[in-house]
Amino acid sequence: MIVILIISVGWGLDRLLSHSVTEQNNPDTIGIKTGFLYIGALLLQHERDIETSWNAEQTAIQTSLGFPVALFQISDFFGDKRIINALKSGEITTLATEENSTIYYQKLQNTHFIIALGPINKSTTTESTDRLLIWVYYLLVAIVLYIWLWPLSRDLRELRKTAIDFGAENFAARVKINKSSSITPVATAFNSMAQRIQDLITSHQDLTHAVSHELKTPLSRFKFSLEIVNNSDDKEQNKKYLQAMKQDVCELDELIDEMLSYAKLGTHNLKLNLQRIDPEQWLKAIIESYSQEDIKISLEMMSLNSEQEKYITIDKHLMSRAVNNLIRNGLRYAHQHLKISFNKDDNKIYLSIEDDGIGIPEQFREQIFQPFARLDTSRDRQSGGYGLGLAITQKIVQQHGGKVVVDKSTLGGASFKLSWLDIDIRENIK
Ligand code: ADP
Repeated sequence: MIVILIISVGWGLDRLLSHSVTEQNNPDTIGIKTGFLYIGALLLQHERDIETSWNAEQTAIQTSLGFPVALFQISDFFGDKRIINALKSGEITTLATEENSTIYYQKLQNTHFIIALGPINKSTTTESTDRLLIWVYYLLVAIVLYIWLWPLSRDLRELRKTAIDFGAENFAARVKINKSSSITPVATAFNSMAQRIQDLITSHQDLTHAVSHELKTPLSRFKFSLEIVNNSDDKEQNKKYLQAMKQDVCELDELIDEMLSYAKLGTHNLKLNLQRIDPEQWLKAIIESYSQEDIKISLEMMSLNSEQEKYITIDKHLMSRAVNNLIRNGLRYAHQHLKISFNKDDNKIYLSIEDDGIGIPEQFREQIFQPFARLDTSRDRQSGGYGLGLAITQKIVQQHGGKVVVDKSTLGGASFKLSWLDIDIRENIK
């Protein structure tokens, strides 16, 4: 399109320019004008009548100009009205002959005579050279454009191919183009979008597998117990299996509750039930509920000076759930000590829950926040949950606009660090 456009604009311009050049500034036209002036001066210098002068001078004029000349009465001149009018007003008029030559006419001033110069052959050689030059020029433009556009069109084709590939469920397809390409930003955006979609699909598949596995285990135990109870008359044994079945149903119920909570927390427009609370009172009450535990839980509060600073705005119910998940995990792994620290600066709230247990190896520190992720798979189910606790905690903190990370604690075990922007301040920023 660009090539066609440039060529047509160039061609149009060329036509326009060459037209005006021929009419006004062309050396040929200047020569013709001089020829007419010369003949006029010669014919009018004697007081003789024009025809006598013409007969006397024609051969000399013809010889000095180098092309045929003729004299007509204007009344002898047949032609288009417009041409005759143009002649009458003194303009130079041309007529093309069949042999690609031109005859020029002009009326002799204050007389009824018309002088004709020609036929004069057009200088075809310069014209064809010009035409050739023009074509070379456009060809060069076209080549430059092609060299410039070809990589772009090749990269766009690659992008299109990858998009089609990706659409056909090849989620590993990525755009591979040179970094210097002009569509690199588009390709990078496409690739990062493709990566995110692939991650989402993978995590969705993992989740589906995990859910089906988690649901299937108690269900198959249940089916097994049911089969035994059905085929046995041993009352004592049946009682034992019925008890196991009851436990499986409870487990399923609990799992479904956890899964629903997790799904609900993942929604974008979850409405938080925000409350302004005193963090010290809140955390002390939570710790109090674990007073029966063997492990000692200590609380380290940063000293908050003013009354204003003392309060934080959170969804108390949800944030308590997040903290309880971390405390329960900590209690499960701690040897003797669990420490909760609260800190607050100008606009951020920091809460950490650390223990002196086995900790979490560095390579698993991101993975454990995935739903159904458990590091100690061999562990007895009764001692742990479904691997949803940390995923739920992360979602709650994210709903508060914050994040949770895990690190090594100075106590020796894991240190879960929650941080989020104080909601009051967030409202002001908005
Ligand atoms: P679960 O309810 O099965 O414990 P979580 O999501 O709470 O699931 O935890 C996921 C995994 O992270 C646990 O199975 C455990 O391996 C590891 N983990 C969590 N908290 C701790 C901790 N304080 N110390 C060591 N490992 C932990």
